[in-house]
Amino acid sequence: AKRSGKDRIVSWSSGMSLAELQDEELRAALRAAIDDRRVRLAYQPIVELDTGRVIGLEALARWRHEGRDVPPDVFIPLAERTGLMTALTADLLETACGRLSAWTMRRAEPLAVHVNVAPSQLVAPGFVGTVAALVARYRLRPGGLVLEITESGIFADLDAARRTVTELRQLGVGVSLDDFGVGYSSLAQLNSMPLDSVKIDRSFLAGIDTDPRQATFLHAVLRLAEEIDLPVVAEGVERPAQLTLLRALGCRHAQGYLLGRPVDPSLVPGLLGGVPVP
Ligand code: C2E
Ligand code: CA
Ligand code: CA
Ligand code: CA
Repeated sequence: AKRSGKDRIVSWSSGMSLAELQDEELRAALRAAIDDRRVRLAYQPIVELDTGRVIGLEALARWRHEGRDVPPDVFIPLAERTGLMTALTADLLETACGRLSAWTMRRAEPLAVHVNVAPSQLVAPGFVGTVAALVARYRLRPGGLVLEITESGIFADLDAARRTVTELRQLGVGVSLDDFGVGYSSLAQLNSMPLDSVKIDRSFLAGIDTDPRQATFLHAVLRLAEEIDLPVVAEGVERPAQLTLLRALGCRHAQGYLLGRPVDPSLVPGLLGGVPVP
């Protein structure tokens, strides 16, 4: 190797690209973080707009590595690519169920904790068993645990996904389709999936208060969800004007910085009485 940066030599001699090498280092660090249970969860409220009641909390993974927060958009795909997703999912599910059980111990109204499930996990062998064990161990109420799945998770293997979703629901676990509207689902395929709700991706909300075409688009996506009888959570609400429009379109549940940012679990009890809705 002529241009001999250190990485270059190593990468050349081991037959790896620089990207692969960085993946390898980051993977080792993530592996260690999972083993030491240092990947944390932040919780963002899902709010009933009429009342400000917090009906759910979405658990969002957080990893601090070498003094910096690595975004989940980086380490989640890394975990998927490098075979760490099963271990990470099991760890985070356990953490989330423990929190849910503590938060609902003395609470009469229902509360759901939403956990994101990567496409590979939904149909992974043992996944339903893992979830079933947690439901039993923490005595979770029906609907207490909600799994957020994506269209790519469903369409990798439609029949397997449908079986899994059906089994999860038999356990009393809710299933919500994340990022609704951005994927390729046909209504017929979605209709065959026994979902509890859909989450409208925040890209559909981005310009609704300034661009009439965006608002029309959101309206169409909401109608679609209504058509297949699925309750909707609108994601990424940042401005009061977006809320006004969402209400006008009949959307009852939302999530976003305006209603509450993802927070450390220690701050969640302070949210359970409800949040102010502008
Ligand atoms: P997502 O599931 O669509 O989660 C919503 C993302 O939007 C979160 O980003 C959240 O912090 C952010 N968000 C919430 N409200 C607002 C808002 O008002 N404005 C804006 N601009 N953003 C908002 P985050 O935490 O960075 O997570 C990014 C993605 O990483 C998630 O998107 C999800 O796909 C994935 N992810 C996060 N945690 C997990 C996990 O535990 N497991 C899996 N499989 N994926 C995860
Ligand atoms: Ca999600
Ligand atoms: Ca989402
Ligand atoms: Ca998203």
